[in-house]
Amino acid sequence: MERITWDTPLAAFPGVGPARQRALAKLGLERAGDLLTFYPRRYEDRTRSYSIAQAPVGEPVCVEAMVAQPPRLSRIRRGLDLVKTRAVDDAGALELTFFNQSYLQKTLRQGESYVFYGKIDLVGGRRAMTNPVFEPVGRQKFTGRIMPRYHLSQGLTNHLLITLAQAAVEQCADGLAETLPQAVLDAQGLPGAAEACRQVHFPTSWEALEAARSRLAFEELFYLTVGLSLLRKRREGGRGLPLNEGDGKDFQALLPFPLTGAQRRVVDECARDLCAGPPMNRLVQGDVGSGKTAIAAFCLWRAAKNGAQGAMMAPTELLAQQHYQTLKALLEPAHIAVALLTASQTAAEKKRVKTALLTGDVQVVVGTHALLSQGVDFRNLALAVVDEQHRFGVNQRSALAAKGVHPHLLVLSATPIPRTLALILYGDLDVSVLDELPPGRRPVETYLVTERYHQRLYRFMDKLIDEGRQVYVVCPAVEEAEAEEGDPTLKAVEQYAQHLAQEVFPHRRVGFVHGKMKARDKEAVMAAFAAGEVQVLVSTTVIEVGVDVPNAALMVVENADRFGLSQLHQLRGRVGRGKHQSYCVLVSNHTNPETRARLKALCATTDGFRIAEEDLKARGPGDFFGQRQHGLPQLHLADLSADMRLLAAAQRAAQDLLARDPYLQKPEHQPMWERVRQLFQENPDIFN
Ligand code: ADP
Ligand code: MG
Repeated sequence: MERITWDTPLAAFPGVGPARQRALAKLGLERAGDLLTFYPRRYEDRTRSYSIAQAPVGEPVCVEAMVAQPPRLSRIRRGLDLVKTRAVDDAGALELTFFNQSYLQKTLRQGESYVFYGKIDLVGGRRAMTNPVFEPVGRQKFTGRIMPRYHLSQGLTNHLLITLAQAAVEQCADGLAETLPQAVLDAQGLPGAAEACRQVHFPTSWEALEAARSRLAFEELFYLTVGLSLLRKRREGGRGLPLNEGDGKDFQALLPFPLTGAQRRVVDECARDLCAGPPMNRLVQGDVGSGKTAIAAFCLWRAAKNGAQGAMMAPTELLAQQHYQTLKALLEPAHIAVALLTASQTAAEKKRVKTALLTGDVQVVVGTHALLSQGVDFRNLALAVVDEQHRFGVNQRSALAAKGVHPHLLVLSATPIPRTLALILYGDLDVSVLDELPPGRRPVETYLVTERYHQRLYRFMDKLIDEGRQVYVVCPAVEEAEAEEGDPTLKAVEQYAQHLAQEVFPHRRVGFVHGKMKARDKEAVMAAFAAGEVQVLVSTTVIEVGVDVPNAALMVVENADRFGLSQLHQLRGRVGRGKHQSYCVLVSNHTNPETRARLKALCATTDGFRIAEEDLKARGPGDFFGQRQHGLPQLHLADLSADMRLLAAAQRAAQDLLARDPYLQKPEHQPMWERVRQLFQENPDIFN
């Protein structure tokens, strides 16, 4: 075949017909260049060759041996033939069988030594291998080294991908542009782009592989940081509307409670941001119940006080309604008009609100993502607030902001995130932390029990309901089908709700919600629970996001081991919002000591940040970073729990670079700018 370049279509490679071409395209592989960044999923150690007698049975190994008999071909039936032979070394014999590879009768030669790579089985006391990969000793391409395992799709073999990748890497890796500054590579002791590419596919040693992986992970983190910094700069380039009027004391006078010390501090931070200068760009992180709504209320009040408008977006209708009620009660006495905008309103209602936003008759609007729809325009939007930030993506955040001209931005999040991760996820935001709960809250008492305690637990539930309280019961699965997979104790929402309603609490009202229900039905059940009409609410984690039902005093989590600690902590935050002593009961039959220790840790602390750190250690950053909702580019190689040191280094390097060339305008930085754009290409609008 001709020389391969970056752009050579894979169809031009030997062995790639139309069917394989389609299968490769499914993996995003169309041109030779695509193979270079198609990183192996894992690696096989084919460095060591065993003698037949010493090779471990049952796992893939390399064995060096000589073919001792002429291979025999036998046709079993149409479409099935076998080639059989025997290989030997000093002390052992290995039976070899190949299916449907009749040509091997000629290729495998008696008296010749090969390295066979495959799994050894014991067949009638003899050692045997079926369909091994093999190569003549001394001319090895696939054995005697560490080999990659690639992600495959139907119709592809790892062997094919290795062949393709070998050709592409041999001929294209040297052409890879080096986009990291040499000084950075030297300082970090990282290999160059071409070397890293060769080593990540076909490592010459485990150390070289680790160095290559570090380089590529560093590169991802570096460009992520550069991109986020550019985003932030762009926002700082504009001027926010100065919202100078409005004294904290006057705001306090509107509230039914004194602000906590932490709330006062964060209100001050926001007040400073809202004055003349670049628009506010702030994330307020605070545990559930820490009083984030009051911070939003302050900023919205400030916008209205200065003759401008503010909008607050919440992830669910019910939450939007709740905020609407709260803000209306708070702000209307100050002669500020508050409106609600959600998808379920009638066309006439929506029209009325939209008109009032355009004329400026309404100063504060609360809504769901309905706020983002076309035709929702403001007279003078100076502030955008996004509640429960983790439910929205970066692009939704900016879509709301785009409704104004450089509006101030406030995002609220109840998901405590370890600081290092926050730097990445929210690298473009300033962060305030509400680290104090309003006074008089009694911490939720948390217990870990096994399934044996169910009867006692039910009696406890009954007693609380007698006292007028309500109970949440969270299950990990929606349907029994999911539940059947191996674990007979796994609880599914619908079935468990039915069981509780019919057999345990026939005298109570039991409702259920889960993510597969229609939004309208879901909202109806949640509303009934909020109104106290339903006493036991069985659900999946859909209730994780914030409706305030102060009367709910018990959270039961079934199969608690199925959840991350941070998630359990979020769930626990659904109770303990009123004046009643509240409880959280984690039910788990898991006996693994690590799991039990993890759950015990949750019983011992209510500090969301500490829990998040524990979670990060135990489960990696998947829970924080795994979901795509946040709208940031996906990382392929960087592992945020393991690569913290690398992250810090990448962030320093990115800062250095931007200090010298703040907008990457220098010609020599053009390739970097291209990389950043590429990395963020799933959200092209965030750079507009
Ligand atoms: P978050 O959104 O942070 O989870 P909320 O803003 O919903 O918390 O507040 C939780 C509850 O605490 C609400 O009922 C609210 O009225 C109340 N609250 C907020 N701040 C204070 C305070 N400083 N003192 C007393 N209660 C407060
Ligand atoms: Mg809230």
